[in-house]
Amino acid sequence: MAIRTASWAFLGLFFVAAASAAERPTGPPTTAESLPVATGARLGGDESQTRLIMDFTRKIDLRVFTLADPYRVVVDIPEVAFQLPAKTGESGRGLIKAFRFGLVMQGGSRIVFDLTKPARVEKAFVVDAADGAPARLVLDLVATDRQSFLRRSAAEAAAARAGLPRANGGPAKGGDPRPLVVLDPGHGGIDTGTKGPHGEEEKDIVLDFAQRLRERLEKAGQYRVLMTRTDDTFVPLADRVRIARDAGAALFVSIHADSLPRGEGDARGASIYTLSETATDSEAARLAEKENRADVIAGVDLKSEPDDVAGILIDLAERETKSYSVQFAHKLAGEMKTATQLHKTPLKSAGFRVLRAPDVPSVLVELGYVSNRDDLQSLLSDGWRNHTADAMARAIDSYLASHTVDARAGAN
Ligand SMILES: [Zn+2]
Repeated sequence: MAIRTASWAFLGLFFVAAASAAERPTGPPTTAESLPVATGARLGGDESQTRLIMDFTRKIDLRVFTLADPYRVVVDIPEVAFQLPAKTGESGRGLIKAFRFGLVMQGGSRIVFDLTKPARVEKAFVVDAADGAPARLVLDLVATDRQSFLRRSAAEAAAARAGLPRANGGPAKGGDPRPLVVLDPGHGGIDTGTKGPHGEEEKDIVLDFAQRLRERLEKAGQYRVLMTRTDDTFVPLADRVRIARDAGAALFVSIHADSLPRGEGDARGASIYTLSETATDSEAARLAEKENRADVIAGVDLKSEPDDVAGILIDLAERETKSYSVQFAHKLAGEMKTATQLHKTPLKSAGFRVLRAPDVPSVLVELGYVSNRDDLQSLLSDGWRNHTADAMARAIDSYLASHTVDARAGAN
């Protein structure tokens, strides 16, 4: 039997990996070691036909769908470890403008392709490893027109809805009467959020910060706390809102960090945003647009989101919620300025999708700018995170103390 060079190379790699595993101190294998690993990706073809090949250490299942505006192809696969060369996916070829990959849920990874124009998925399959070659995911795209793209995309969405179990109603309410605070660390998984000059990622900074804030609130014992994510998982914007509404939250606090593109000035300081249809200024509008892109980045199908909030009752609830949100934003600014630098206009509003719960007072806090050297130093510092979390906990306590009394007085 002829053994091809490729087999030897593959076996060689395998033995190197096995040897280094044997040298490691004993201990249970980590989850990452048991996951399939994506090891390489290549693009071929042109503007009429484009092929992607991604190598994996073993065969995986996949589900493919498309999304319009912007045109994207989304490939869902089981959780894998992506060990691809740096900058993989940052530029594309032919019909693929760029692509990104990462976790979108517990146990599930996703690859999202941005297209240069509408394309049809001609083939999508995974071939098993054989003859020393790795398992390979093959995706063939063929150029199409907008109408055909939209038709197929709608058909895929209908098929997916028919096959899916209904989403559960969120966490149980339970018998605990203490007011519930929902903390929402922005981004996660495939969506890293903004990045600092040395690769510091917003999703990590805000998760750690939210955990510190949670500890403080829980230690005080007067409030229950629920996080929209507690690990590096992507959560769609509408789900974050739904988590707060289903759980009957008294307050929703979304936590982010901002950045300005190079050459667009050097803003710094924390800002607190509330919801409005018209943005207070162009910077607020830019930021809302950027934060709202989370779903686009992660390939969430917005058409499948039920339009469960409409009508005049919502308007009435919203008006009250809005005024509570603004009151809370003022309290936050008042407390946060004792712990950290605020932006020169710290209170602003714009159309953030994550602030759209009609019945839960909601604010979005941008802790600072990772593009500013001093802010970044603060954002990465334990001391700053603790002081600022203390200040926010005081504001939450002060707001809820007064509003819980109001609610009791009004309830009869
Ligand atoms: Zn953000």
